[in-house]
Amino acid sequence: MLLREVEYARPGSVDEAIRLLVSNEGARALAGGQTLVNVMKARAASPDVLVDLNRLDDLRAISVSGETLQLGAMATYTQIMDSSEVEVSRPILAEVAAQIADVQVRNRGTIGGNVCSNDPTNHLPPLLVAVGASMTIRSEAGERTVPAEEFFLGVYMTVVGEGELLTSVSVPAAANAADGFASVTIGRDGTCIANAAASLAGGSPRIALGCVDAVPVLLTPNGTDEESIRKAVADAALDPPSDVHAPADYRRHLAEICAVRAVAQAAERGP
Ligand SMILES: Cc1cc2nc3c(=O)[nH]c(=O)nc-3n(C[C@H](O)[C@H](O)[C@H](O)COP(=O)(O)OP(=O)(O)OC[C@H]3O[C@@H](n4cnc5c(N)ncnc54)[C@H](O)[C@@H]3O)c2cc1C
Repeated sequence: MLLREVEYARPGSVDEAIRLLVSNEGARALAGGQTLVNVMKARAASPDVLVDLNRLDDLRAISVSGETLQLGAMATYTQIMDSSEVEVSRPILAEVAAQIADVQVRNRGTIGGNVCSNDPTNHLPPLLVAVGASMTIRSEAGERTVPAEEFFLGVYMTVVGEGELLTSVSVPAAANAADGFASVTIGRDGTCIANAAASLAGGSPRIALGCVDAVPVLLTPNGTDEESIRKAVADAALDPPSDVHAPADYRRHLAEICAVRAVAQAAERGP
């Protein structure tokens, strides 16, 4: 289906992008377009102005500063997969980025777009919660930083408000981090039916489940043995959606399996 007519702006700076978002009610940031353009084609979203972030090279940078890996919101999955900074400071990000969809989506899709769209089946929201990431958001009023577990509000909803831009995602650098990720997908490289990310890097285990609620579900089990993990998932009293791919009961079961697998993978890599 053809897009409805829409105005298009291509700012040259983050400040200009924010000015455009503030001064045009109904304006939306355009990152890789891999979600936004599709929902516009389906008429599920109909912004009046697209503010294209693709000229903002500052937002593409990936760097390590002290103990922190900093990823610009416009860093693509392919960039993350190829980044030596990611490889040495938190390789799980590259590993999971490589599992997202196909080459075209990975070349265009960005970490910022992935988390700002907050599709509950996306790979990165649970991963970034598990590794203790934080998000930096800019507006005309200044900058604020929000921990990943407070960033996601609901299906397709985050704390990024109108007139605001996510500018970067920070992840604690941990060269030999004990991180893991497991998913069950619809076919190879397909959408996740259930997924789980685990990190044992900070001492106590953090597991974030995806696809079972509107936002990632963070669990902190008492131990890393299978029984403790299964108990933590059961105690979360998940109420996942039923759909053509999986009834709620089966999705609950898959969440448990993915959590156990993600922790096992993390433990194998532990220092
Ligand atoms: C065929 C196909 C299969 C896919 N499979 C998967 C999958 O298995 N796993 C997965 O995780 N994803 C999957 N995706 C989604 C893909 O990862 C998208 O790239 C991602 O969800 C959105 O990123 P984007 O850069 O394309 O953002 P866009 O589509 O450009 O934007 C998405 C939303 O985020 C907002 N936004 C973007 N950047 C910012 C910012 N910096 N600040 C504020 N708001 C911003 C936009 O306004 C828009 O509302 C798939 C997509 C396709 C087309």
